[in-house]
Amino acid sequence: MDIKYIPKGEEGKSCADCKHFERDSNMQGMGKCFGKEVLAGGSCNFFEPKE
Ligand code: SF4
Repeated sequence: MDIKYIPKGEEGKSCADCKHFERDSNMQGMGKCFGKEVLAGGSCNFFEPKE
């Protein structure tokens, strides 16, 4: 399955709500997902909610 990243995720389904997201304490609104820089407000088809 290919990753389909979108820069603006739906409410409650953005990278910030995803268990793969690691918040970047140095950069507001940014984080890491599998080692790549992503926007906290983005989303993709691999979204999984935080437990
Ligand atoms: S898996 Fe997708 S939704 Fe989750 S943090 Fe990574 S890019 Fe965002």
